[in-house]
Amino acid sequence: MESVNDYLRENNIKPSFQRIKILEYLLGTKAHPTVDTIYKALVSEIPTLSKTTVYNTLNLFVQNNITTIVTIEEKEARYDADTSIHGHFKCENCGKVYDFPLDISSLTADKLDGFVIKHQHVYYRGFCKECIK
Ligand SMILES: [Zn+2]
Ligand SMILES: [Zn+2]
Repeated sequence: MESVNDYLRENNIKPSFQRIKILEYLLGTKAHPTVDTIYKALVSEIPTLSKTTVYNTLNLFVQNNITTIVTIEEKEARYDADTSIHGHFKCENCGKVYDFPLDISSLTADKLDGFVIKHQHVYYRGFCKECIK
């Protein structure tokens, strides 16, 4: 992949140090972190970081379509730098969010003929394999 710096520029985002760090972190994880998780992971490296900055930066990424918000639960927004279409499964025991491949073309929405669909999300909830063991 091209550098994070270029990736931000191509998506009309000015690459500041904090933005680069936040995006690098997000690209490097499959854990779908929350604002809190990202803040805690980066604050030792960037002491000037605030939760508001993390939140605003993520919002900017979402607006420019390089990040998706995963809201399996209303009160907990998680972020995903993988913007390809895939499903999310949240384990109600350990709280982990798993990705799974999804063939969105097999989901038909005939009744929405003529509508413009901007976001497609598929969420599952239950217990993951690890927790069932
Ligand atoms: Zn689990
Ligand atoms: Zn995901």
